Amino acid sequence: MSHRRCRYCLQLFQPSRYHPHQLVCSRPDCQRQRRREYHRRKLHTDPEYHQVCRDSQQKWRCRHPDYSRQYRQSHPKSVERNRQAQRQRDRKRHLRNLVKNNLAFDLKHSAAEVWLLGPQAENLGFLPSSDSSNSSAQSGSRGGFLKRTSLWSYPLDGFTTDPC
Ligand SMILES: [Zn+2]
Repeated sequence: MSHRRCRYCLQLFQPSRYHPHQLVCSRPDCQRQRRREYHRRKLHTDPEYHQVCRDSQQKWRCRHPDYSRQYRQSHPKSVERNRQAQRQRDRKRHLRNLVKNNLAFDLKHSAAEVWLLGPQAENLGFLPSSDSSNSSAQSGSRGGFLKRTSLWSYPLDGFTTDPC
């Protein structure tokens, strides 16, 4: 059987007679690399494989409860990066909830959401103009406008004790 050149270490090798199409030599490093690439490719192309890996990762974490804690202790930069990313995701979720609540006419909840988001609410168009004499909310029917008024007329300090 003819020799081949390994795609990783570029050394010549003799393919196994059981795997005549072998492209990677049998050195442990090269085989590890081959498995790693296969795993990554498969994760992207096979949803079932992806799910099985996810499940087994969760099981592994259950069997090794100290690993995550030790990893976090020894990798503070990674912890900080994750924290920032999680904050970003939380902010996006708050924005989505705010939009949803605006459509659901949930007065109390929406008000709390605005307080949580602060200046970003302005970008969503929920904050009114500076005209504070606007009183049509009281006379108008219960609806989007009433809710919109309550969003900004609520004293901000009052929310510090509001758990919602
Ligand atoms: Zn090799």
